[in-house]
Amino acid sequence: MHPIVIVGSGLAGYTLLKEIRKRDTSTPVTLVTADDGVFYSKPNLSNALAAGRSATALAGASAQKMAADQQATVLTHTRVTAIDTQNQRVQTGSGALDYGKLVLALGADPIPHGLSGNGTAAVLAVNDLADYAVFRDALDGKKRVTVLGGGLIGCEFANDLVHAGFTVDVVHLGAWPLERLLPVEAGRRLADGLAALGVTWHFGRTGRSVESADAGYRVTLDNGDMLAADVVLSAIGLRPRTQLAQAAGIPVGRGIQTGRLLETGAPNVYALGDCAEVEGQNLPYVQPLMVQARALAATLTGTPTPVVYPAMPVMVKTPAHPVAVLPPRLGASGGWKVECGDTGICALHVDDNGRLQGFALTGSETGRRNTLVKELAA
Ligand SMILES: Cc1cc2nc3c(=O)[nH]c(=O)nc-3n(C[C@H](O)[C@H](O)[C@H](O)COP(=O)(O)OP(=O)(O)OC[C@H]3O[C@@H](n4cnc5c(N)ncnc54)[C@H](O)[C@@H]3O)c2cc1C
Repeated sequence: MHPIVIVGSGLAGYTLLKEIRKRDTSTPVTLVTADDGVFYSKPNLSNALAAGRSATALAGASAQKMAADQQATVLTHTRVTAIDTQNQRVQTGSGALDYGKLVLALGADPIPHGLSGNGTAAVLAVNDLADYAVFRDALDGKKRVTVLGGGLIGCEFANDLVHAGFTVDVVHLGAWPLERLLPVEAGRRLADGLAALGVTWHFGRTGRSVESADAGYRVTLDNGDMLAADVVLSAIGLRPRTQLAQAAGIPVGRGIQTGRLLETGAPNVYALGDCAEVEGQNLPYVQPLMVQARALAATLTGTPTPVVYPAMPVMVKTPAHPVAVLPPRLGASGGWKVECGDTGICALHVDDNGRLQGFALTGSETGRRNTLVKELAA
């Protein structure tokens, strides 16, 4: 009997493995990963600095321990290079592997920053534990950090860095942070909260080049402004890893396309987590991948179970001014109704009939999220 082969040891791959084992201890499972297979929780990467936690402190169980605990084979430092969907076989750097079912849990890649100049090789992105170790080494003894991107990850790193005593500039193309998730009032409040801690914002700007200068770097913006930095962190977004699937003829859009059973366009091939586009939606957060992993484990062990998402607010880890957001569905009618209090913003997205479609809460208003989630569920 060929095993279930899971590709990827991020939260999606390992959560699926654990969920399979809760239901079935006998089906052979092989997890293949390009990295060292150490278990860790990725959201911790953007709030570990102020808490004084190193990359080593963030590392959980080793690949060997995960394999033993979950009665699985875990192949580390093994990249899958091709999928033969006809013969149900994957090619890796160290040989071929037959599968009964194949699950792609490949994650997402940082979007290239596109800067020019002789300092580009030093621009960092933090998307896994190994990146985080490099980032921490780069920060050692340094003072000034330029963050490119004021989305969720950029804001979280800015808060963590400034809290840990660094001088932080954030360069953001939008007119306010998280502009695709938050109405302007909520975004401005978040920006103000971070500015009060010492973050300097450069809205409506992108980085053009990065050059070595004075033992650090000079980042030149598209309007000619120059920022001095010891470390440059790019957080301009992630894009699902689709190349492997695409090369195998599996349909991809923004992510690897699946239906509600998480099956791709190829027989016995499934996808979940950051790499997946489930019925047109790519949701690169932890809660959706947990829901997906539970449903897929049931499907793979004999009970076909479609993914049904509950209302899933996203918490932005910016203690300077916390944010809880549940964006309305794409194309939802209606608009934002915003109430601004002294200590937070409550923005409700309501449709033309006054029904709640989503929300954005900041500061003290984040305490209302559970009540609103219940209202949405009803
Ligand atoms: C800094 C940061 C903070 C975040 N904070 C939050 C938060 O607070 N809340 C929240 O909900 N979400 C947060 N997220 C998002 C969340 O962490 C991700 O949605 C989630 O971790 C993605 O898990 P994944 O397993 O899909 O992908 P990944 O963790 O990227 O795992 C992908 C795996 O696939 C492997 N792989 C890729 N290609 C191959 C190949 N060809 N062959 C073999 N192996 C391969 C990789 O080595 C890796 O093991 C954050 C993300 C970041 C970067």
